[in-house]
Amino acid sequence: MSKIYTNNLFTRLKLVVVAVFMVCAAGVNGQEFAGVKTVVIDAGHGGKDPGNMGTGRYKTREKDIALEVALKVGQYIKEAFPDIKVIFTRKDDSFVTLAGRAEIANKNKADLFISIHCNAANSKSAAGTETFVMGFKYEEYNRELTLKENSVIFMEDDYKETYSDFDPNNPESEMFAGLYQSAFQDQSITFANYVEQQFANRVGRRSRGVKQGVLYVLNRSTMPSVLIELGFLSNSKEEDFLNSELGQVYMASAIYRAFKEWKKHREGVDLTVKSSAKVEMQGPAENVNEKEYSDNPYGIVFKIQLLSSTRKIKEGSSELQGLDEIEELHVDGRYKYVHGAFPNYDEAKKALKKVKKKGFESAFVIALKGSEPLKVQDAIKELEKN
Ligand SMILES: [Zn+2]
Repeated sequence: MSKIYTNNLFTRLKLVVVAVFMVCAAGVNGQEFAGVKTVVIDAGHGGKDPGNMGTGRYKTREKDIALEVALKVGQYIKEAFPDIKVIFTRKDDSFVTLAGRAEIANKNKADLFISIHCNAANSKSAAGTETFVMGFKYEEYNRELTLKENSVIFMEDDYKETYSDFDPNNPESEMFAGLYQSAFQDQSITFANYVEQQFANRVGRRSRGVKQGVLYVLNRSTMPSVLIELGFLSNSKEEDFLNSELGQVYMASAIYRAFKEWKKHREGVDLTVKSSAKVEMQGPAENVNEKEYSDNPYGIVFKIQLLSSTRKIKEGSSELQGLDEIEELHVDGRYKYVHGAFPNYDEAKKALKKVKKKGFESAFVIALKGSEPLKVQDAIKELEKN
């Protein structure tokens, strides 16, 4: 009973405040939207805040997987849209406060804020992806997750001063105090839907859908923003997937493709036509689908080795020119430079032809299981066996 009353009151209040806010926002900006220029990618947790610990079978924790996927998303966006500024709230294992994350996005006037996390639950069978937007809608509101993802505030020094107007134990009050996000909720929901569709339709993940939470990082950022939960690290199957290179490539590619869709939507028809050549030109793991992954559930991935050296080769050096998506592996004291990530040998072979045409004549296909090198024949055999 009281809940219904609160929601009604809230709705009325929200309408008034949103209207006021939108007028203010228009006045402040005073200019037309000129296309998506800046994206902030936020790898959840970091440093002394590990996030959730998963099943304990891996050394990696939520913060590590969030960072891997966040860096890949950023890399894919940069490669496909060199004019877009990609800003990371952290690029390594450092601790960033929640207030600091929102501030980075606001200071840089980002057009979109993407926060990346992994879920955990007491039930080992809990599974699936979720994408959160700021909000309080009764059926879609997840209070448990709201409290969990905000709780890092207690780890911060001086949190009482920094968050004097935000009570992590009673986040719903934030809706009345803040209301920063309401003006951007439609755009946030659009992007969140694209993300969940990509996860479900292209990567074969179980999507739990778009949810709402009163999440500090989302509420305090003044642009469309979402918080993505890639899956449950408390579920061994999902933990295996999210720890595998292939799983990370697939999830990052899905978020990248959702971004591409959202950008098109956000910019409308005119801008899309102008940039369509660039948009269609490239994009990692475009052809991911459920079948490919279910054929390869053991984290085996094929890559193309371009060259191997005892010395480190600088990024952008002439020896590595002409190819995107180059990754450096450090194996047995040598630096190996590899390209791409393919779920099966046939796709890697196809890509190898293109790579050779670009001048890397001695390139060849290698296989990895997780981060361990594996003979290509053994990798193929192992995939056939399953
Ligand atoms: Zn988290």
